[in-house]
Amino acid sequence: MTYRVTLIPGDGIGPEVADATRTVLDATGVAFDWDVQPAGIEAMETHGDVLPQATLDSVKANGVGIKGPITTPIGSGFRSVNVGLRHALNLYANLRPGKTIKGVQAPFDHVDLVVVRENLEGMYSGIEFDTGTAEGTEVIDFINARSKRQIEPDAALSIKLITPGNTERIVRYAFEYARANGRKKVTIVHKANIMKFSDGLFLKVAQQVASEYPDIESNDRIIDNMCMQLMQKPSEYDVLVMANLYGDIVSDLVAGMIGGLGVAPSGNIGTEAAVFEPIHGSAPSHAGKNEANPTAMILSGAMMLRHLGEMDAATRVENAVADVIAAGDRVTYDLRADRDPSKAATTTEMTQAIVERL
Ligand code: NAD
Repeated sequence: MTYRVTLIPGDGIGPEVADATRTVLDATGVAFDWDVQPAGIEAMETHGDVLPQATLDSVKANGVGIKGPITTPIGSGFRSVNVGLRHALNLYANLRPGKTIKGVQAPFDHVDLVVVRENLEGMYSGIEFDTGTAEGTEVIDFINARSKRQIEPDAALSIKLITPGNTERIVRYAFEYARANGRKKVTIVHKANIMKFSDGLFLKVAQQVASEYPDIESNDRIIDNMCMQLMQKPSEYDVLVMANLYGDIVSDLVAGMIGGLGVAPSGNIGTEAAVFEPIHGSAPSHAGKNEANPTAMILSGAMMLRHLGEMDAATRVENAVADVIAAGDRVTYDLRADRDPSKAATTTEMTQAIVERL
């Protein structure tokens, strides 16, 4: 069987790590028909849109995609391709495993956590009102007429959106994931003590869902306490489920625990499509130098292989990556203790080492 998969190389270091990933996935023996599609700055130049309809249509038609990072200039009005892609394809679950890889310099050992992040609402609902706009003023007037706490007229607003339906869907995903992957425990992460309505609803719905999974242990933690506990006793945690912004931050924390963004993969899962991507960004200062670490995107490729049911190939990729990193002599600069680029392997050399161990 040949899998037709949309490949979005992205920009910055994206095309280099995407190329490495394609090389490794092709070398597993699983047959791929790569449907290469643009997104980001380049797509703006060629298609007049950072997220062209043709790219979305390709992922919809193929049902699975893998993408490199894409630059989102801060505060420029340039909409985030990543957020746009998740919303357009209803990719509601962001799955971010964080597992210790032997040989990676990391502040913690034996980490094996999975962050399940709600991808479409929470603080990233996209409902925002800029300072000094007519709509913003209208919303502020409306709220001020109904709330004891008065909002200053020049405030900017971002709406945190929590719905019962989307909360149930993400929490159910976390429990189903736990069940399917032999995980023992799901922790519901929230701030319901302060945000009594939005996070209160998240917690209430999550606890209802948890009660339907008596075979999976569950508990809840307030987000700040969760961060501290992850630093103190990470082995007490397993699968963590939470709303969007918390998930974004906690998954970077977990990435830091296992050695940083260069080794952290992720998947965005929806009902009709799934898109896999490294957690890291486009690292523009490393672009075009053949020095970026391809691990995170290659491991995202292994997650994609699992999603496609190619378990053996996925395990071979993960083991090959782990072997190369543990050997330590053909790894990129960021995986070396001295971080000396002159002694490090290039992206293509590390990729070749992984291919040789498949
Ligand atoms: P970044 O992840 O691009 O880079 C932070 C630092 O991490 C880099 O300077 C580099 O030292 C290191 N790094 C990251 N990935 C690496 C790799 N594969 N190999 C070696 N070193 C690596 O984060 P940033 O600088 O905050 O963001 C740069 C751009 O990327 C921004 O425009 C941001 O919006 C975008 N971004 C995109 C995505 C995505 O497409 N999913 C995710 C995060 C950030």
